[in-house]
Amino acid sequence: MEWFAMYDVAIIGAGPAGASAAIFASRAGLRTVLVDADQSVTRRALIKNHLGLPDGITGPELVDRGKRHATDAGAELVTTKVTEVRPSADGFALQGENGRGIEARHVIFCLGVNPEVARLAGAQIVPGTEPRIKEIVAVDAQGHTSIPGLWAAGTCAGTSVHTIITAGDGARVAINVISAVKGERNVDHDVLPAPAR
Ligand SMILES: Cc1cc2nc3c(=O)[nH]c(=O)nc-3n(C[C@H](O)[C@H](O)[C@H](O)COP(=O)(O)OP(=O)(O)OC[C@H]3O[C@@H](n4cnc5c(N)ncnc54)[C@H](O)[C@@H]3O)c2cc1C
Repeated sequence: MEWFAMYDVAIIGAGPAGASAAIFASRAGLRTVLVDADQSVTRRALIKNHLGLPDGITGPELVDRGKRHATDAGAELVTTKVTEVRPSADGFALQGENGRGIEARHVIFCLGVNPEVARLAGAQIVPGTEPRIKEIVAVDAQGHTSIPGLWAAGTCAGTSVHTIITAGDGARVAINVISAVKGERNVDHDVLPAPAR
């Protein structure tokens, strides 16, 4: 099995929640890997209620743009299914269906409708509260699961099942992970240059 150097954060799932989390984590300078099986339900959506996109956007376009935004921000994208997440000496070891092993200090589950790999990792799973969502990963207000170092965001963490909300939740939880790593609250602001006089 091929093992790769330790990441600060591994994000499992690259739908709106995961891609958004990866954008913030990478821009904050965290060594970030985004692992995705590419089975996002968002690929079936035609989205007309996402802020700033008055003409609407297709689900596939939003998912592909999100992945491109994350890799442009510095995240590494690995397309495979994660079959196992277990504790390791310095964090967690992820096993990919493609035979690739990945180690990370923190893991953010952004799994969408299927929390299975979080259950296998020992995280507490509870009944879902949103329509058509059977089960979710139990999280606290920061996005911590029942296992320290494992976090969850988006649909799999019980948010309302809408792209603007899952993307926002991915960013929110990533900021909490960044702040935990850096030991101070993270802010990611760019300022518009002053108009030339
Ligand atoms: C038919 C349909 C229409 C919709 N229309 C709208 C709409 O108009 N407006 C709106 O706001 N929302 C809409 N939605 C909802 C929207 O798509 C979702 O709410 C949302 O954005 C889900 O984001 P997510 O990141 O939580 O999950 P997802 O986008 O589902 O992403 C989860 C990702 O995790 C990956 N994953 C899961 N387990 C593993 C694993 N073990 N290893 C690796 N990868 C894994 C999956 O392959 C997937 O790529 C619609 C949904 C559907 C199904």
